[in-house]
Amino acid sequence: MSYVKGLKCRECSRTYPKEPLYVCEYCFGPLEVDYDYEKIGKVLTREMIESRPHNLWRYRELMPLDGEPVVGLHTGFTPFFRARNLEKVLGVEELYIKDDSVNHPTLSFKDRVVAVAISKAREFGFSTVACASTGNLANSVAAQAALANLRRFIFIPADLEMGKVIGTLIYHPTLIAVDGNYDQVNRLCSEVAARYNWAFVNINIRPYYAEGSKTYAYEIAEQLGWKPPRHIVVPVAGGSLISKIHKGLKEFEKLGLIGRVDTKIYAAQATGCCPIITAIKDHSGIVKPVKPDTIAKSLAIGNPADGVYAVGTVAETGGWGEDVSDEEIVAAIKLLAATEGIFTETAGGVTLAAAKKLIEMGRIPRDESIVICITGNGLKTQEAVAKRIGEAVRIKPTIDSFEEHVKK
Ligand SMILES: *Cc1c(COP(=O)(O)O)cnc(C)c1O
Ligand SMILES: [Zn+2]
Repeated sequence: MSYVKGLKCRECSRTYPKEPLYVCEYCFGPLEVDYDYEKIGKVLTREMIESRPHNLWRYRELMPLDGEPVVGLHTGFTPFFRARNLEKVLGVEELYIKDDSVNHPTLSFKDRVVAVAISKAREFGFSTVACASTGNLANSVAAQAALANLRRFIFIPADLEMGKVIGTLIYHPTLIAVDGNYDQVNRLCSEVAARYNWAFVNINIRPYYAEGSKTYAYEIAEQLGWKPPRHIVVPVAGGSLISKIHKGLKEFEKLGLIGRVDTKIYAAQATGCCPIITAIKDHSGIVKPVKPDTIAKSLAIGNPADGVYAVGTVAETGGWGEDVSDEEIVAAIKLLAATEGIFTETAGGVTLAAAKKLIEMGRIPRDESIVICITGNGLKTQEAVAKRIGEAVRIKPTIDSFEEHVKK
């Protein structure tokens, strides 16, 4: 049973059939999945969702598949918890972490979008999937396409972290490392996509793929006891996740699963690549492309596809945005590890550092509920912190050597 009516242009609202289409023929706006909410509202209840397995398909009525999913049966429903040590350090009363650094199978929030994209690609009958990636998408497409028995072509910038490269190659894709930045990789992929009949998860499958991000917000609301938080801080690359978090909360509100949504949504980027934060701060609504230069490579998209929607989400919800230096990113990675015992990648450092700034500036009040989105795992970006965390104490295998070297 599917509740998908078709695709709809985000700009002019023209409708399209459920096909691998992504851009409006009339106005070149992006297409989005259109659901029959009236029908969904008649069947979907909190109890029904709670009775289902702990994976992202527990919200299946709000996902764009017609048939059964072929991957993602262990993806989603990641930990969500009160961060009491961090609350003390930041001086806030109610802070939560939504932790996709332990998402299945490749340890980032991208496993959600890819579970949907790969299932949809199989439904459409594609035998080959592909993507342009800043790293985490590469890992997840390679892994989940392997599980779904699909051929896989992955395009990345040649200077990615070793953890992201090995974490892709292990699944035996054709991995193409392009001499250029992500925006150049993406442009190349658009040309490849026009010539080959492949399912590009972030090009012709993008409308379906993007829906997977909504489950991150559904889980926050469900795990908070079926209510929305007052503030959410979100890392931003192409701008898809942040706008889908908003869409997810509004859908739950519309379906009566939660009360009124008055959540303010905040964007976080690295100063070395912050076209969206710049647009938020100068109130122009125009996202000017930049050339990325930051250790937060997973967020290093200089020309974000959903940039205007990300800026729109922040403006509509009354949130804000902040950018942080590479120094601040490393400090925040270390702070999260030392307080909450979580090793996040550079993107998580961006989010926590930006949240800290927004709290200190008074943009986020200290006495209201705040959720920080941790979206990736630190084991993949070890070079960012390797030289900044001290060293092991090297000793001989004797008690004398131990007592000589170790301060007690
Ligand atoms: C891709 C990614 C994001 C943000 O993605 P959008 O392109 O803005 O949807 C955030 N965190 C991590 C770790 C990512 O890999
Ligand atoms: Zn249109």
